[in-house]
Amino acid sequence: MESLLTPSAAHAGCPKNMEYGPCGGVGFDGSCEVGDFRCVFLDDPLVTWHGVVPPEPDVVPRSSGAAEMMVLMKSRPIVVADFPARAMDAESLAECAALLAGPVDATLAGDHGTARVQFSPSYRASLIRAAGLQVWTGINCRDRNRVAIEGELVGLAHVGVAGVHCVTGDHTLLGSRPDAAAVFDLDSPQVAALARAAGHLVSVGESPTTPPVELRAARLLEKTRAGADVCFVNHCGGVDAVGRFVRESHDLGVTARFIPCVPMVTDHASARLLESFPSLVLPESYLDRILSAADPREEGIRAAVELSLELLEIDGVAGVNLSGGAGHGREAEFAIVLAETAQRLAL
Ligand code: SF4
Repeated sequence: MESLLTPSAAHAGCPKNMEYGPCGGVGFDGSCEVGDFRCVFLDDPLVTWHGVVPPEPDVVPRSSGAAEMMVLMKSRPIVVADFPARAMDAESLAECAALLAGPVDATLAGDHGTARVQFSPSYRASLIRAAGLQVWTGINCRDRNRVAIEGELVGLAHVGVAGVHCVTGDHTLLGSRPDAAAVFDLDSPQVAALARAAGHLVSVGESPTTPPVELRAARLLEKTRAGADVCFVNHCGGVDAVGRFVRESHDLGVTARFIPCVPMVTDHASARLLESFPSLVLPESYLDRILSAADPREEGIRAAVELSLELLEIDGVAGVNLSGGAGHGREAEFAIVLAETAQRLAL
């Protein structure tokens, strides 16, 4: 297959070799997530998309999974949920998938909260699909070069995934395998372009409260020029913050649909896991409300349902992503919580 991308012109000094930076891991004080220095993108103008233009649908038709999800998203808001199964555990994967199938429209299966070594994206997606659950698969740039990513994208189209979520990804130095070399041959907009060319429904993430805050909507616009259809809005503080970001994006001409993350917390273990997410900002008093309740599980579900319904009132929001993870050994229990939350939403 001929390459669709020009060789990456990485910004000097970026540990992730990003061309279209900055990543979502910039500290609130402007520091790089990897080293003790200022993010190298913060004092420069935004890098605009100068790669291939996304193909027209009559040139590259959408994959079957993408086409089905696009029809569903036109008919009603969708509920996506993070995938809580243990990494590389087919039994846990099948159990969690079976629990989520039905109540949620797709599971977002990307980086694992605590494990860097995982099933490959297309293999994991095929296992989840075989268990009866639709999947929105995450692809990061840390673990694979462009050739390996292209192979995964073809595999994912065969599997029939609903969408492909394209992220640059955390650096290996931050996870459970700091001994592994970090690849970062591409960054998220470049993977979005490849995913769109492979016929996928393409999503990207954006963190509205992460520096440079004033450029995050413009950065999303560039990702849509690369091929993104959907933006998962990372935890940024609640309804007002999401609403501001969506309006700002619309004002710039972004036509992508938005799926904001809804924090899922039902106990101290799930709160700790959520707090490990980079650039996390929760709605005011969200954790206190849940953890101080007589029944934190019930309060966590109620808080998530209330927040979801408010987010869905925002023009341009096409669904919600129930986001979080479980303490070790409580994956199935957490999947039940996610399913119950989705059932109560009953969109
Ligand atoms: S914060 Fe991200 S984009 Fe900025 S220099 Fe570090 S790795 Fe690169």
